[in-house]
Amino acid sequence: LILESIDLRQLVEEIFDMYTDFPVKLINSVQENYTLVADRKKLFTLLKNLVDNAVKYNKEEGLVEVKAYSDGTWHKIEVKDTGIGIPRVHLPFIFERFYRADPSRSRDLGGTGLGLSIVKHIALLHGGKVEVESKEGEGSLFRVYLPILSE
Ligand code: ATP
Ligand code: MG
Repeated sequence: LILESIDLRQLVEEIFDMYTDFPVKLINSVQENYTLVADRKKLFTLLKNLVDNAVKYNKEEGLVEVKAYSDGTWHKIEVKDTGIGIPRVHLPFIFERFYRADPSRSRDLGGTGLGLSIVKHIALLHGGKVEVESKEGEGSLFRVYLPILSE
C-alpha cells in the first residue's frame, strides 16, 4: 500500500466525472476537506467499482449518493443508490469473484462479476471491511469501513 492523505470529496468528484452521461443523479455529500489516509489508487478503484454498480443497477432518474463520516475508530464511506436492489438470497455471495445476482437481468450490462470482489480485497488490504444493505426494488447501500490512520 502507498499511503497518503486523500481529499475524499475531490476523489468522489473525479469518479462522478466518469459517469456524467448516465441518466442518474450523482450526489457528492462528502464534506469539504474530509481527508483520510489510504492508498489513493486503490481507494479510487474501490469507490469507482461501487459507483459503477450504483449507476448500472439503477433506474432512470435514480439517485447515487456518496457520504462519509468517522466515529473515532473508522472512516465510514457509504455509496447508496435508489436502484433495483439485490434479492436477499444473493446477498451472501455478491462479494465472491464472478458472482452475478440474476445473470439474465445483468447480462446486458456486460460486467464480469469481479467489481465487488476487488472492493472487498482493497478494504481488507487497508484493515477494513465492507457491509451491504439492500432491498429488492428499492436500492442498495454499501458501507466501507477504513481504519483511521495517520500518515
Ligand atoms: P463488473 O463489476 O466486473 O463489471 P458486476 O457489476 O456484475 O461486473 P460486481 O460489481 O462484483 O460484478 O457485482 C456483483 C453482482 O451484484 C452484480 O452482477 C449485480 O447483480 C449485483 N449488484 C452489485 N451492486 C449492485 C447494486 N448497487 N444494485 C443492484 N445490484 C448490485
Ligand atoms: Mg460491478
